[in-house]
Amino acid sequence: MVGFGFDVHRLAEGQTLVLAGVEIPSPIGTVAHSDGDVIFHALVDALLGAIALGDIGEHFPDTDPRWKGAASSQFVEHAVGLLRERSYTIINVDCTLVLESPKILSFKPQMRENIAQLCGLPLERVAVKATTSERMGYVGRKEGVHAFVVCEVQPT
Ligand code: MG
Repeated sequence: MVGFGFDVHRLAEGQTLVLAGVEIPSPIGTVAHSDGDVIFHALVDALLGAIALGDIGEHFPDTDPRWKGAASSQFVEHAVGLLRERSYTIINVDCTLVLESPKILSFKPQMRENIAQLCGLPLERVAVKATTSERMGYVGRKEGVHAFVVCEVQPT
């Protein structure tokens, strides 16, 4: 089965930018209730989506004070746990980040490692790709950031 996830967050000055668990040095960061990690949020929706378990908002409402400033890795751990409880194995994870700046090239290895560790996958089953929006639209104006994640899971 295939799961797909999408997330978007606003960007603002003075906020931290956390992507796949890596804090990226940047003058702008995500505005969010949690740590605003768009990759982890899209990953959670992909994992939940693969076996139709709802979405991240149902599992972790942003009105819940428990999730204020929360590290989004715990959302991923929760989603992975739900799959394991139901005897599903994650086969691979493929992420695409759409961010105008800063460049994240040097942080990709750590991002892949974080995803691999959380999902119990070897590195070669985890892809992290990044692109810009060619200065078009709200991503291009550095007002927001997108992430798309696809995963495959199978029953064990
Ligand atoms: Mg989000």
